[in-house]
Amino acid sequence: MTATHWLFGDQLGPHFTATAAGGTPRDTDWLIIEARSVFRRRRFHRAKAHLLLSAMRHRAAELGARYVRADTYRAGLAEAVGDAPVSVHHPTSRAALRLLDALPQVTVHPARGFLVDRREFARWAADHAPRRLRQEDFYRWVRADRRILMDGPDPAGGRWNHDHDNRQPPPRGARRLDVKPPYRPREDAIDEEVRADLDRWEREDGISFVGRDGPRTFPATRREALTALDHFVRDRLASFGAHEDAVLAEDPVMSHSLLSSSLNLGLLSPRECVARAEQAWRDGEVPLNSAEGFIRQICGWREYVWQLYWHFGEDYRHANALGHTEPLPRWFLELDADAVEARCLSTVLAQVRDTGWTHHIPRLMVLGSHALQYGWDPAAVTDWFHRSFVDGYDWVMLPNVVGMSQYADGGRMTTKPYTTGGAYLNRMSDLCGPCRYRPTARTGDDACPFTVGYWSFLHRHRERLAANARTAQAVRGLGRLDDLPEVLRLAAEHRTP
Ligand code: FAD
Repeated sequence: MTATHWLFGDQLGPHFTATAAGGTPRDTDWLIIEARSVFRRRRFHRAKAHLLLSAMRHRAAELGARYVRADTYRAGLAEAVGDAPVSVHHPTSRAALRLLDALPQVTVHPARGFLVDRREFARWAADHAPRRLRQEDFYRWVRADRRILMDGPDPAGGRWNHDHDNRQPPPRGARRLDVKPPYRPREDAIDEEVRADLDRWEREDGISFVGRDGPRTFPATRREALTALDHFVRDRLASFGAHEDAVLAEDPVMSHSLLSSSLNLGLLSPRECVARAEQAWRDGEVPLNSAEGFIRQICGWREYVWQLYWHFGEDYRHANALGHTEPLPRWFLELDADAVEARCLSTVLAQVRDTGWTHHIPRLMVLGSHALQYGWDPAAVTDWFHRSFVDGYDWVMLPNVVGMSQYADGGRMTTKPYTTGGAYLNRMSDLCGPCRYRPTARTGDDACPFTVGYWSFLHRHRERLAANARTAQAVRGLGRLDDLPEVLRLAAEHRTP
């Protein structure tokens, strides 16, 4: 008898259709459901909606899958198979898992698309980290256990961590890194159809989006994703490490891989990305610090964030340890880059508006840091990141935004809040030079919103931050500011632009 297997929109690569042994299943009908209510509930970036629909429709065409357009998943499933049995791989959100649990006809198989199984992580957490979870410990365990970038029992090259060689400021005077530009896919008839549908939804269905849509800049098919991976490994992996944390206004991509949306759609597997980077190092094509830096992002960060999403439980999304409640301003919600004067915010917001992507430092140290400094509601910030980024999904947003960026979990994920004054941004980017604000100024007409915001944040949470060994010294610095009242006044002004 033919079995039906349902593929969610982020389960689109061959590792979701292979048998457990890696073979091709026989007698399987593939089902993909496009649920329009997802887009009615939230205002997504249009490029994200486009990418997702394009990827799902491309995959359905490749597989000859049944593609059902319905209002909800439940309605789509009923239309496709009635109450006949269906299998599916573990979804990536709690909401989807709840839905599956409520459908007796559905059998849920273990998750794919990650290196570590949830049960394995639970055992690791119980054995290795009974007191505190540390990303670095987890990363080393994954590498050793999965034999990634190892020489016998030791890390390749004798060191686990090459951060010392990475995280350099941008090359002095450079406006762009000296690397080839990234691969960009070419649109086809399916993209044309998606664009026409999105236009119609906006016109007739009351569905509304933010941001600009097109031409599509991220892979929608396995073939495109593999080409993107090839180009990255060949052209930019070698220089990935050194300037990983630097920002250049005219070069948003620098040596980053742009692979997050392909990994999160399931078009690429983390295993193959990591294997390619390791092989490039073993073949002498890229230096170890770059290969390790990239592998760390995937085996360390991506994998860790996925596990924390489940480990921290349902209530994590409501965490608000700092009691931040300010609403997000309109210019931020609308991605209105021209409405804001600070050059860093304006530049990065324009990148998000135009592509639905910016690399991790603009996310953390510009967008997230600004929200944290000015006390924006962390749940609203999380929702904004989720809707505005092509690679945003519930599982990846919660730990990254609630924990990493907004410190709303009070330190369960990171040991300190990630925020700085303008001096850090000035050192790590070329954004400040022509800005109307001065990064070192904390009073006066040209006081930098990040410098003002930094001191105001420390002041607002001085008791909590003074008790944290990693922030106590910064709080002591507050005592040396004889102009603190003026700084706080300016911060209040910036809070309501
Ligand atoms: P590269 O710099 O080339 O890194 C390689 C890969 O590592 C990425 O493709 C990604 O798959 C993985 N990775 C690295 N860091 C993380 C991380 N912290 N969490 C998960 N994966 C990671 N990443 C997302 O995939 N989706 C998100 O919605 C997302 N939101 C973020 C929000 C904030 C506030 C912050 C600070 C980070 C967020 N990240 C998110 C992580 C990271 O910024 C992006 O993965 C990265 O910028 C994507 O660009 P890239 O593919 O060029 O990454």
